[in-house]
Amino acid sequence: MKTKLEHILQQTQEYRPEDQELVKSAYLFAEQAHEGQRRENGSPYFSHIFATASLLADWRMPAPLIAAGFLHDVPEDTKHSLSDIEKHFGKDIASLVEGETKLSALKYRGKERYAENLRKMFLAIAQDIRVVIIKFADRVDNMRTLNIFPEDKRKRIARETLEIYAPIANRLGMGEVKGILEDLAFQYVFPEEYEWVKILVEEELKNRKQYLNHARTLIEQKFRNAGIPYLEIHGRTKRVYSLYKKLLKHDRDIAKIYDLVAVRIIVKSVADCYTALGAVHNLFTPLKGRIKDYIAQPKPNGYQSLHTTVFCEEGKIIEFQIRTAEMHEEAEYGIAAHWRYTEERGGGSPPPAKQVRWMQDLVRIQKELRDEKTFLKTLEELKIDVFQNRIFVFTPNGDVLDLPEGSTPVDFAYLVHTDLGNHCVRAQINGDIAPLDAPLKSGDIVKIITDQKRNGPSTQWLKFAKTRHAREKIRAGAHYGIAKLLKKMLPGGSDGASKKNRS
Ligand code: MN
Repeated sequence: MKTKLEHILQQTQEYRPEDQELVKSAYLFAEQAHEGQRRENGSPYFSHIFATASLLADWRMPAPLIAAGFLHDVPEDTKHSLSDIEKHFGKDIASLVEGETKLSALKYRGKERYAENLRKMFLAIAQDIRVVIIKFADRVDNMRTLNIFPEDKRKRIARETLEIYAPIANRLGMGEVKGILEDLAFQYVFPEEYEWVKILVEEELKNRKQYLNHARTLIEQKFRNAGIPYLEIHGRTKRVYSLYKKLLKHDRDIAKIYDLVAVRIIVKSVADCYTALGAVHNLFTPLKGRIKDYIAQPKPNGYQSLHTTVFCEEGKIIEFQIRTAEMHEEAEYGIAAHWRYTEERGGGSPPPAKQVRWMQDLVRIQKELRDEKTFLKTLEELKIDVFQNRIFVFTPNGDVLDLPEGSTPVDFAYLVHTDLGNHCVRAQINGDIAPLDAPLKSGDIVKIITDQKRNGPSTQWLKFAKTRHAREKIRAGAHYGIAKLLKKMLPGGSDGASKKNRS
């Protein structure tokens, strides 16, 4: 049997010798560092490390990413520190590993309204898209081995995968990763729905695959006879979770899903795409309104292809997807396609680590990825942090709040709850006691200390409160405080009465 080391060397055999050396030394370092550690089910911890690095090699990521994949859990789980890694492997790899450690602190606790913030924060913390790619590999392996954890942990991780990881993969155009993660998470998050779709698909696939193969043979013949050049024609089956979402939109009726199976045609050039589309329509009648030109108008995440749904023999309906090899590569790997190892890029050395903190500009990036020089320029421009006016802080149980820069514990308290704001007296920031006007920064864990005896907010707070929400509450609450005070002073006024008024 092949050893793990032989396996990884084989995966990277086309890489430059120095790149292979790097992968090998990271392998040996990690294997020794995790020596003796076991996972929840008793298997060696290094299996997870190896699987993560191995996926990165499968995706043909450059050697520093594979190396960082091997080292990603070292500072957190072993006696070796980040500076040990820097000593052995240099600054760049150490910074990738550091990103992994930081990201692992971010946890989704199932509050819908925080999901989008958490996604933004995920990218803001990662800073370098390569860190995100490594994290995806780590997560794919964690999802594949999720059954080793107790039920509640499984559910939490699977929901996090579905709400945070898969949408980010989608926005980065990484269709392959998005699909794998969604399908792995589906069975844990919606077990009954998963069973339903699985059985539904099994039955339906049998007969659809039959006429798919038939249609494929016909189109291949047509292409050969007409001398239309193509690189590849293959069938593809829709992924389970994306099928499920589509079923929900179509009365749960699988007969209304035309792209359960599809024929994919890969050609050399954009011109060949349109030629191929013509040939398909020449052979089969297209359905009205079902021709989609995502080449002229790419999807928001950059996806490009021509789609058409046609009638095959006996009125059977089938979808064709036509694209160039580059479009195919980008549909599968998205932003990671740029780093994929190729001969001409000589070792696939990645663009230098850049600050990538954006969301809105992804579409632009996707388009400009096609041109290496513009891509580097774009990354340079993107150093302008789109989050520069926002900060993200944590509540003690890990929820993320999105606040304007310069916000204080008072703004934080009012965002959580009016009552918390009205009774706050001081704060605890990252465990240290702090005054109510202390400016917060991204990543702070903020705990509000209250005193129920407090008579509402102080107008002094208006001097430092940043958010409109907090300022409104302070003004309203201050009136309430005065009213309460007056009531106390008037004969017959009591605390009990004012409490009743409040509710
Ligand atoms: Mn890991």
